Amino acid sequence: EAIVRLEQVCKAYNVGEPNETEVLHAIDLELEAGGFLALVGPSGSGKSTLLNIIGLLDRPTSGSLSIAGEPTSRLDDAEITHLRGHEIGFVFQSHMLISAFTACENVMMPMVVANGRASAAIEQRALDLLDRVGLTPVANNRALNMSGGQQQRVAIARALAMRPRLILADEPTGNLDTQSAEGVFQLMRDENLASGTTFLIVTHNMALATRCDRIIEVVDGRITQGQRPQG
Ligand code: ADP
Ligand code: ADP
Repeated sequence: EAIVRLEQVCKAYNVGEPNETEVLHAIDLELEAGGFLALVGPSGSGKSTLLNIIGLLDRPTSGSLSIAGEPTSRLDDAEITHLRGHEIGFVFQSHMLISAFTACENVMMPMVVANGRASAAIEQRALDLLDRVGLTPVANNRALNMSGGQQQRVAIARALAMRPRLILADEPTGNLDTQSAEGVFQLMRDENLASGTTFLIVTHNMALATRCDRIIEVVDGRITQGQRPQG
């Protein structure tokens, strides 16, 4: 069962301008539910653009994208925002935490936004998530006082908050030393195996990529490897 399906997806920037450039060319791609998938390719090949499209942060110029069997082209902006908020979690290289907030407050954030206000239940779920990523001792520390690896764990806990079916991670270990990178990678793998959450992870680290279920490679805006699930 595919959680994500792209058919003939093209993406151009600066459409209609003299400098219009197509950076994704007729992408066909299928991501199986429950997969733990690596997205690799040279810098500038279109990985972030592809992640933004799959994550509903940007729309294809042409072609179709379905999430859990639902074609997204028919959805209006409010429906897209709702789908993104409930089905997709994001982890970025520069974790994007609010540095003056505590770890707990950062993890509460998507739940507070969805609920309209904070609650004891939301705080408890945030603390449970921080426990899952091994951060109970620093749950009330401000993000700015945490190490890179700790901050990335907070970002993963936050990404898990809404129980999304898909987590998109853009170089989540890119700024980390080898040991912290290993911990963050293993944490995502454990979560994938425990909850069945699908992960799509952009990485330049081939040692980590080869430990994923499948490697999807993008070169010059085309998929050159791993277009469909194996077997
Ligand atoms: P990667 O993530 O693989 O490094 P990107 O998706 O960031 O690749 O970029 C693919 C190409 O699209 C690059 O040539 C980049 O300069 C261009 N690009 C990315 N974002 C924009 C944008 N907002 N406007 C114009 N060009 C862009
Ligand atoms: P990455 O490390 O993922 O390749 P980049 O440093 O290429 O990211 O790009 C960072 C941000 O700048 C992205 O949001 C991307 O869309 C945007 N961007 C990249 N290239 C261009 C460009 N040529 N024009 C405008 N925005 C761009």
